[in-house]
Amino acid sequence: MQTLADLADWAEQAGIPALAGTQATLDAARELRETLFRSFLAALDEHPPDLRSVSICQADNYGRLFLDRRHLRRWCTKEGCGNRAKAARHYQRVKARRAPPSHAIEV
Ligand SMILES: [Zn+2]
Repeated sequence: MQTLADLADWAEQAGIPALAGTQATLDAARELRETLFRSFLAALDEHPPDLRSVSICQADNYGRLFLDRRHLRRWCTKEGCGNRAKAARHYQRVKARRAPPSHAIEV
């Protein structure tokens, strides 16, 4: 997260509505992220995770990881990535139905 646009993208993906895009907000978000990351690393030292439980979200281009002990989930969140993926599939199906057949002759 280097720019205000990155901050806006992150806030949208995290479901944080109307986050003020100022330099102070960006600095605070970066500081929070770094603090959380340091806490996460400390927790990993104390309680190493079972890496067999880690899955990769199928909706993300950047491979967001999440815990899924039974490997039954496709997305990190059903409400976020799951809904976006389902909406995209629905859009593609509707678009394909409306498209003229490839062998149609235009007049
Ligand atoms: Zn995801």
